[in-house]
Amino acid sequence: MKLYLEFILLLLCVLNYNNLKSQNNFDTKVFTSNQNYKPLNDYSKSSNGLFSSDIIINGLPNRIDKTFGLEKVQLAIQHSRISDIKVVLESPDGLEVWVSNRHGRDGANYSETIFCNSGFRGKISDGIPPFVGEYLPDGILSNFNNGQNPNGIWKLKVYDLSEGVTGIFGSVVLYFSNKPAIDIVSKCSLENPKGCKCNNINHKKHKNCKLLPDLTLIKEITEKEIHEIPYSETKGYGELRFGVSTFNKGIGPLEVKGNNIWLCNFDTVQKGAICHNGTYPRQQVFQTIYILTKNGFKKEIKTAGFNAYDARPGHEHFHSDDYVNYELLVPSSLEKSQWKVACKGTKASFCIWDLSYCRDDLINCKDINNKLYLVNDLPNYGFKGFKDCLPEVQGLSVGGVDYYGEGFEGQSILLPKGLKNGLYYLKIEIDPQNLFLESDETNNTIIVPITLNKQKD
Ligand SMILES: [Zn+2]
Repeated sequence: MKLYLEFILLLLCVLNYNNLKSQNNFDTKVFTSNQNYKPLNDYSKSSNGLFSSDIIINGLPNRIDKTFGLEKVQLAIQHSRISDIKVVLESPDGLEVWVSNRHGRDGANYSETIFCNSGFRGKISDGIPPFVGEYLPDGILSNFNNGQNPNGIWKLKVYDLSEGVTGIFGSVVLYFSNKPAIDIVSKCSLENPKGCKCNNINHKKHKNCKLLPDLTLIKEITEKEIHEIPYSETKGYGELRFGVSTFNKGIGPLEVKGNNIWLCNFDTVQKGAICHNGTYPRQQVFQTIYILTKNGFKKEIKTAGFNAYDARPGHEHFHSDDYVNYELLVPSSLEKSQWKVACKGTKASFCIWDLSYCRDDLINCKDINNKLYLVNDLPNYGFKGFKDCLPEVQGLSVGGVDYYGEGFEGQSILLPKGLKNGLYYLKIEIDPQNLFLESDETNNTIIVPITLNKQKD
């Protein structure tokens, strides 16, 4: 009898061990799209150029998180002007992550490009078509590994955002494994104010501490992503295209909330209406400032401009007005402050969100003076998370990075006929109207030199 019991116990142990083993070493599971080798939909005024392919997933554990989840995405698209293309992945719970948005200038194709959290070849925005190898996507893949059930329909959305060139969707493959995309979880949160710091000091020693954001610009991105489009007789102008990336190096988030009162001029309208002049209604937004006290958070609210729907190709989400301002300056005297504006400034509105994060392995967050910020230099890193471009709330976490690439609609200054070739300076200012309260207002401008030689003078 004793022997028999021992045998049962041993059997149970073995069964249990095997069970644990299979949980810890779940084989990589691979799923591919349904609609492969199909023509994409070229952009037209009546369509937004969307092609969607389903990836049906079943048989996975009912939870994806930091132990098992989405590891990588493999993508093949044929398109001879690949910068027309924006690729978004949507999970069964409706969460969207930008895989790649309008990169590669005049190059062609994604050739079985792999997107993962540790992209060996760096960011997709720095890649060269046909993007062979492993890259970091534009957005945060680990957002998917949020505890959701992965079984269901995933959607790969390919937008062809410029008219005239058609392409072919090849395929997409999703890899799930026990090496999922993960990112650092913030110690500081609304639920855990004790994990938040006032500067580098534990907050208990200070009574009330305003966790203010500090927006700044990453000059390296604009220096890398700036290029001149020649003067065009048919259009009547040339163009200077450029990317802009901002990050929050403060100790608190930038958070803006809408009041859900939608205005066409001064008339209140229904949400989703269109104004008589064809524009979209605006709502006032308010900045929330978090104040750390002995007993948790207090909030302070201040007005912070407006937001509105932006329907331009590739955006189709809500933008906060006057986020950045662009000007082309001519070095007309020795004194920088007296340089004349060669081309009128364009006010650009942005969706303010954490498209990505500052990461130590990427050394991606340098302020206007090229000072590098690593995770440990950013107290309250990750507080408080903004994953989409909704009108109700937008913002930039501590260490959150927002980025509008050179291929995005609106990321340009038009160069009028008669503008002389030569040396100019692109001035980019974040929060030009001073709508947002920040801990430092003096680090909001970069100036990048550019020599124009393709214009008609
Ligand atoms: Zn946008």
